[in-house]
Amino acid sequence: MRIEYDIKLGFKDVMIRPKRSTLKSRAQVNLDREFKFLNSKASWMGVPIMAANMDTVGTFEMALALMEHCVFTVIHKHYSVAEWNQFLSKAPQGIENFIAISTGTGSKDAEKLKHVLTENPFLKFICIDVANGYSEHFVSFVQNTRNLYPDKVIIAGNVVTGEMVEELLLSGADIIKVGIGPGSVCTTRVKTGVGYPQLSAIIECADAAHGLGGQIISDGGCATPGDVAKAFGAGADFVMLGGMLAGHDESGGELIEKNGEKFKQFYGMSSATAMEKHVGGVAEYRASEGKTVEVPYRGKVIQTIHDILGGIRSTCTYVGAQRLKELTKRTTFIRVAEQENRIYTK
Ligand code: 5GP
Repeated sequence: MRIEYDIKLGFKDVMIRPKRSTLKSRAQVNLDREFKFLNSKASWMGVPIMAANMDTVGTFEMALALMEHCVFTVIHKHYSVAEWNQFLSKAPQGIENFIAISTGTGSKDAEKLKHVLTENPFLKFICIDVANGYSEHFVSFVQNTRNLYPDKVIIAGNVVTGEMVEELLLSGADIIKVGIGPGSVCTTRVKTGVGYPQLSAIIECADAAHGLGGQIISDGGCATPGDVAKAFGAGADFVMLGGMLAGHDESGGELIEKNGEKFKQFYGMSSATAMEKHVGGVAEYRASEGKTVEVPYRGKVIQTIHDILGGIRSTCTYVGAQRLKELTKRTTFIRVAEQENRIYTK
């Protein structure tokens, strides 16, 4: 047993220090980023925010709405091949730049991935997603997927430490998904004691990825637009959102009415609810590692997206970053023992 004594930080432990700026208005801030990916050599341009591949967030409807703002959706892995084909036959041109198809690492997952990609070869992004990205089996699945699809952009995760980011990039991934335990409906830290505070995970993993020419996604833990800005400030190339995009018309999940108020169901992909829905229950050897909650219904997602993008633009003006790309360079975090004033918060 060993203890690391240097303290690891989450979003709640810091704020961004304002800096002199020549920017007059938020309208001068450009949130587009352009990337060339390490292994696929493909390029991408857009606003680097991603809807999470949860079936109460990353739906086809969400992808159509977010694409209007050049925002990305990682589609959840529970659509059938027929559903994929039907969606893609009707979706507008250019959708392939703003969606990824998700897969697990089982042989059935690989089979379904092959089907969808054979029938829709223009799809560009694959997200190989497991709760624990530290297993050898996962690494060899990433290698095999790279061999099978040399031109596709491969997202792989989740991990939280630099050495594993490097291993996955060297195994063929282009973008590494970072986050274990920070998610709004995640109970991994409670059930297993495993995790890593998200801000430190981003700083350390971004450093490792950028050293090799790869990118990272900060996945989980953002509860406010300010957290999204902190994730970018810490070095995230992309920020993935679950809970912040749940509860909308496009989010999937059941609409519930209680005493005249509307809610939508939102649940973790390892929750008992998800396992019952998709695999017929929680297997005896495992514990559910996700919550099921009801979130207030919030109408169309566009309002929320404006709120998030407006917040990040404002962060950029506070530190003098004309482009999102400059935000990390211009970020100084200060350690804090307070966040917002909650006097009027219920
Ligand atoms: P949020 O933005 O809601 O804080 O976090 C979203 C992320 O939580 C997802 O992208 C995924 O990585 C993670 N997540 C989703 N469902 C579960 C779950 O059931 N258990 C765990 N441990 N993490 C989950």
